[in-house]
Amino acid sequence: MWNKRPAHKGLFILISGPSGTGKTSVIKGLCESDATLAFSISATTRPPRSDEIDGVDYYFLDQTEFEDQISSGGFLEWVKYGGHYYGTLKSTVESTIAKGKDLILEIDVQGAMKVKDLGFRCISIFLLPPSLNSLEKRLRNRKTESDSELEQRLLTAKSEFASVKDYNYCILNPDHNVEEAVTQIRHIISAERCRIDEQLLDAISQEFCR
Ligand code: 5GP
Repeated sequence: MWNKRPAHKGLFILISGPSGTGKTSVIKGLCESDATLAFSISATTRPPRSDEIDGVDYYFLDQTEFEDQISSGGFLEWVKYGGHYYGTLKSTVESTIAKGKDLILEIDVQGAMKVKDLGFRCISIFLLPPSLNSLEKRLRNRKTESDSELEQRLLTAKSEFASVKDYNYCILNPDHNVEEAVTQIRHIISAERCRIDEQLLDAISQEFCR
């Protein structure tokens, strides 16, 4: 019986959405429920929040270290967001793909479009908050930004909604029910793993068309 799919090529699952939508909690839920998924740890010059750990949530670099990585071509993509650098390190992506895992990238809309343009096998998911009011409340409650940074994040959020059209899927992350969004994204990933592509056609041809 033919019961194995060909080995993974490394699917990129791009997850974007305005700051405060709950991307981090959703991604945590996805990685905890599926060992074949790995979170792509980004590098940033933003200072760590009180609950963040270097090498787990982000690689926290100073500006010189980040700019050195830019100059030496170390990033797959990078952006400046809210006055800080954020970027996906090529080394992180390569080591994850080498382990045969699919990669979840928490990434802003500009970065997501850059990764798509690089030609990787991607699915892009835009996470929506239930309303602008709820987004503002979530941002204010977490108390991780100064007032001016918070206003800036809300302004950026409003402009990001216009980019939903460039994504494959849009998922609502309701208040107090992260599991719902996690389950919906798990279904999307399962469907994507059954998608007919050249890799699957080759495997079917070797097995059934000899
Ligand atoms: P935060 O400061 O809230 O952790 O992240 C701010 C924004 O940067 C979020 O929209 C987040 O998705 C985005 N971001 C985090 N890592 C990366 C990255 O490696 N590349 C890009 N382009 N955006 C990132």
